[in-house]
Amino acid sequence: MLHFIKTLSLSFFLLGTISVCAQHEAYEVPTEQQIADTTFVNLKDYSTDFVYDMKYATEDNFLKAKVYDCAECLLRLKTVKALVAANKDFIKKGYKIKLYDCYRPLSIQKKMWAIVSNPNYVADPKKGSIHNRGGAVDISLVDADGKELDMGTSFDFFGPEAGHNYTKFSKNILSNRKFLKKIMIQNGFNSFDSEWWHYNLKTGLKDAVSNQKWNCN
Ligand SMILES: [Zn+2]
Repeated sequence: MLHFIKTLSLSFFLLGTISVCAQHEAYEVPTEQQIADTTFVNLKDYSTDFVYDMKYATEDNFLKAKVYDCAECLLRLKTVKALVAANKDFIKKGYKIKLYDCYRPLSIQKKMWAIVSNPNYVADPKKGSIHNRGGAVDISLVDADGKELDMGTSFDFFGPEAGHNYTKFSKNILSNRKFLKKIMIQNGFNSFDSEWWHYNLKTGLKDAVSNQKWNCN
Protein backbone atom coordinates (compact mmCIF):
# COMPACT_ATOMS: atom_id res chain seq x y z
CA MET A 1 0.00 0.00 0.00
CA LEU A 2 2.75 2.44 0.88
CA HIS A 3 4.52 1.65 -2.34
CA PHE A 4 1.41 2.92 -4.01
CA ILE A 5 1.37 5.99 -1.77
CA LYS A 6 5.02 6.68 -2.52
CA THR A 7 4.33 6.48 -6.23
CA LEU A 8 1.48 8.93 -5.80
CA SER A 9 3.57 11.38 -3.81
CA LEU A 10 6.32 11.28 -6.41
CA SER A 11 3.81 11.88 -9.15
CA PHE A 12 3.01 15.17 -7.43
CA PHE A 13 6.29 16.46 -8.79
CA LEU A 14 5.94 15.07 -12.28
CA LEU A 15 4.99 17.40 -15.02
CA GLY A 16 2.31 16.30 -17.40
CA THR A 17 1.46 17.93 -20.66
CA ILE A 18 -1.78 18.81 -22.31
CA SER A 19 -2.25 19.88 -25.88
CA VAL A 20 -4.01 23.11 -26.59
CA CYS A 21 -5.13 24.16 -30.04
CA ALA A 22 -5.46 27.86 -30.66
CA GLN A 23 -5.64 29.58 -34.02
CA HIS A 24 -4.52 26.43 -35.88
CA GLU A 25 -1.41 26.19 -33.77
CA ALA A 26 -0.90 23.26 -31.39
CA TYR A 27 1.23 23.71 -28.33
CA GLU A 28 1.77 22.03 -25.00
CA VAL A 29 1.23 23.54 -21.60
CA PRO A 30 2.91 21.92 -18.59
CA THR A 31 0.49 21.10 -15.79
CA GLU A 32 1.16 19.79 -12.32
CA GLN A 33 -0.67 16.65 -11.31
CA GLN A 34 -2.32 17.23 -7.98
CA ILE A 35 -2.74 14.67 -5.24
CA ALA A 36 -5.45 14.75 -2.60
CA ASP A 37 -4.69 16.56 0.64
CA THR A 38 -5.55 13.39 2.55
CA THR A 39 -2.90 11.27 0.79
CA PHE A 40 -0.19 9.90 3.08
CA VAL A 41 3.23 11.31 2.17
CA ASN A 42 6.71 11.31 3.68
CA LEU A 43 7.63 14.63 5.32
CA LYS A 44 11.23 14.43 4.10
CA ASP A 45 10.00 14.65 0.47
CA TYR A 46 8.62 18.13 1.25
CA SER A 47 11.22 19.66 3.56
CA THR A 48 14.72 18.99 4.85
CA ASP A 49 14.42 21.55 7.66
CA PHE A 50 13.25 19.21 10.44
CA VAL A 51 15.24 17.47 13.15
CA TYR A 52 14.29 13.81 13.67
CA ASP A 53 14.27 11.99 16.99
CA MET A 54 11.68 9.32 16.25
CA LYS A 55 11.44 7.64 19.63
CA TYR A 56 9.42 4.58 18.55
CA ALA A 57 12.09 3.63 16.02
CA THR A 58 14.40 3.14 19.03
CA GLU A 59 14.08 1.44 22.43
CA ASP A 60 14.14 4.86 24.12
CA ASN A 61 10.39 5.08 24.77
CA PHE A 62 7.89 3.94 27.39
CA LEU A 63 7.25 0.69 25.51
CA LYS A 64 11.01 -0.09 25.87
CA ALA A 65 10.75 -1.58 22.41
CA LYS A 66 11.64 -0.51 18.88
CA VAL A 67 8.22 -0.71 17.26
CA TYR A 68 8.94 1.14 13.99
CA ASP A 69 11.34 -0.44 11.50
CA CYS A 70 12.73 2.95 10.49
CA ALA A 71 12.54 6.60 11.52
CA GLU A 72 10.24 8.02 8.84
CA CYS A 73 7.64 10.72 9.43
CA LEU A 74 4.52 9.89 7.41
CA LEU A 75 1.51 12.19 7.54
CA ARG A 76 -1.39 13.22 5.37
CA LEU A 77 -0.37 15.89 2.85
CA LYS A 78 -2.46 18.60 4.54
CA THR A 79 -0.67 17.90 7.87
CA VAL A 80 2.69 18.13 6.11
CA LYS A 81 1.76 21.47 4.54
CA ALA A 82 0.69 22.95 7.89
CA LEU A 83 3.76 21.56 9.67
CA VAL A 84 6.17 22.94 7.04
CA ALA A 85 4.46 26.36 7.37
CA ALA A 86 4.80 26.24 11.17
CA ASN A 87 8.47 25.26 10.89
CA LYS A 88 9.11 28.24 8.59
CA ASP A 89 7.71 30.51 11.30
CA PHE A 90 9.99 28.90 13.91
CA ILE A 91 13.02 29.14 11.59
CA LYS A 92 12.42 32.89 11.15
CA LYS A 93 12.86 33.18 14.91
CA GLY A 94 15.96 30.95 15.03
CA TYR A 95 14.39 27.59 15.96
CA LYS A 96 13.37 24.35 14.29
CA ILE A 97 10.84 21.62 14.98
CA LYS A 98 12.20 18.36 16.37
CA LEU A 99 9.93 15.37 15.68
CA TYR A 100 9.26 12.54 18.12
CA ASP A 101 6.31 10.87 16.38
CA CYS A 102 4.04 11.33 13.35
CA TYR A 103 1.64 8.80 11.80
CA ARG A 104 1.30 5.74 14.03
CA PRO A 105 -0.22 2.43 12.87
CA LEU A 106 -3.24 1.28 14.89
CA SER A 107 -1.42 -1.93 15.91
CA ILE A 108 1.17 0.21 17.77
CA GLN A 109 -1.64 2.19 19.41
CA LYS A 110 -2.97 -1.08 20.83
CA LYS A 111 0.45 -1.93 22.31
CA MET A 112 0.63 1.51 23.93
CA TRP A 113 -2.88 1.22 25.36
CA ALA A 114 -2.03 -2.18 26.86
CA ILE A 115 0.82 -0.54 28.83
CA VAL A 116 -0.85 2.80 29.73
CA SER A 117 -4.66 2.44 29.71
CA ASN A 118 -5.28 6.07 30.65
CA PRO A 119 -6.98 8.25 28.03
CA ASN A 120 -5.22 11.34 29.42
CA TYR A 121 -1.97 9.94 28.05
CA VAL A 122 -2.76 7.28 25.43
CA ALA A 123 -5.79 7.26 23.14
CA ASP A 124 -8.04 4.21 23.38
CA PRO A 125 -7.45 2.25 20.15
CA LYS A 126 -11.22 1.67 19.92
CA LYS A 127 -11.57 5.38 19.16
CA GLY A 128 -8.15 5.77 17.57
CA SER A 129 -5.63 8.54 18.12
CA ILE A 130 -5.25 11.37 15.62
CA HIS A 131 -1.77 9.86 15.16
CA ASN A 132 -3.54 6.83 13.64
CA ARG A 133 -5.32 9.23 11.27
CA GLY A 134 -2.13 10.95 10.03
CA GLY A 135 -3.10 14.29 11.57
CA ALA A 136 -1.02 14.46 14.77
CA VAL A 137 2.61 15.14 15.61
CA ASP A 138 4.67 14.94 18.79
CA ILE A 139 7.26 17.69 18.68
CA SER A 140 9.64 19.97 20.52
CA LEU A 141 11.96 22.79 19.43
CA VAL A 142 15.72 23.05 18.98
CA ASP A 143 17.75 26.27 18.83
CA ALA A 144 20.30 27.27 16.18
CA ASP A 145 22.89 24.98 17.82
CA GLY A 146 20.52 22.01 17.70
CA LYS A 147 19.98 22.16 21.46
CA GLU A 148 16.51 21.18 22.60
CA LEU A 149 14.57 23.86 24.47
CA ASP A 150 13.70 23.03 28.07
CA MET A 151 10.02 22.08 28.15
CA GLY A 152 10.03 20.96 31.79
CA THR A 153 9.56 17.22 31.22
CA SER A 154 10.76 14.66 28.72
CA PHE A 155 8.54 13.51 25.85
CA ASP A 156 5.98 10.87 26.99
CA PHE A 157 6.26 11.87 30.64
CA PHE A 158 3.06 10.53 32.21
CA GLY A 159 2.18 13.01 34.95
CA PRO A 160 0.55 16.40 35.53
CA GLU A 161 3.88 18.19 34.92
CA ALA A 162 3.51 17.34 31.19
CA GLY A 163 0.28 19.34 30.94
CA HIS A 164 -0.17 22.88 29.62
CA ASN A 165 -2.05 23.81 32.80
CA TYR A 166 0.86 22.93 35.08
CA THR A 167 2.50 26.24 35.98
CA LYS A 168 5.02 25.38 38.71
CA PHE A 169 7.94 25.75 36.32
CA SER A 170 10.46 28.53 35.65
CA LYS A 171 9.41 31.42 33.41
CA ASN A 172 11.78 30.11 30.76
CA ILE A 173 10.06 26.69 30.56
CA LEU A 174 6.59 28.21 30.55
CA SER A 175 7.58 30.63 27.80
CA ASN A 176 9.11 27.80 25.69
CA ARG A 177 5.85 25.85 25.88
CA LYS A 178 3.83 28.96 25.11
CA PHE A 179 5.99 29.78 22.10
CA LEU A 180 5.57 26.25 20.67
CA LYS A 181 1.82 26.37 21.23
CA LYS A 182 1.31 29.85 19.79
CA ILE A 183 2.98 29.14 16.44
CA MET A 184 1.35 25.70 16.09
CA ILE A 185 -2.13 27.13 16.73
CA GLN A 186 -1.48 29.93 14.23
CA ASN A 187 -0.79 27.21 11.64
CA GLY A 188 -3.99 25.19 12.07
CA PHE A 189 -3.15 22.85 14.95
CA ASN A 190 -4.85 22.22 18.31
CA SER A 191 -2.88 21.57 21.46
CA PHE A 192 -3.70 18.75 23.87
CA ASP A 193 -4.03 19.79 27.54
CA SER A 194 -2.14 16.90 29.14
CA GLU A 195 0.83 16.68 26.71
CA TRP A 196 2.94 19.74 25.82
CA TRP A 197 4.45 17.87 22.82
CA HIS A 198 1.22 16.77 21.09
CA TYR A 199 -0.50 18.73 18.28
CA ASN A 200 -3.52 17.75 16.15
CA LEU A 201 -4.30 19.25 12.77
CA LYS A 202 -7.77 20.78 13.24
CA THR A 203 -8.98 19.58 9.84
CA GLY A 204 -7.61 16.05 10.40
CA LEU A 205 -9.75 14.95 13.33
CA LYS A 206 -12.27 13.01 11.27
CA ASP A 207 -10.01 11.31 8.74
CA ALA A 208 -10.01 7.51 8.76
CA VAL A 209 -7.87 5.49 11.15
CA SER A 210 -5.16 3.68 9.23
CA ASN A 211 -3.11 0.60 9.97
CA GLN A 212 -0.23 0.13 7.58
CA LYS A 213 3.49 -0.38 7.92
CA TRP A 214 5.71 1.73 5.73
CA ASN A 215 8.42 0.59 3.40
CA CYS A 216 11.84 1.30 4.90
CA ASN A 217 13.87 0.83 1.72
ZN1 LIG B 1 0.97 12.57 20.31
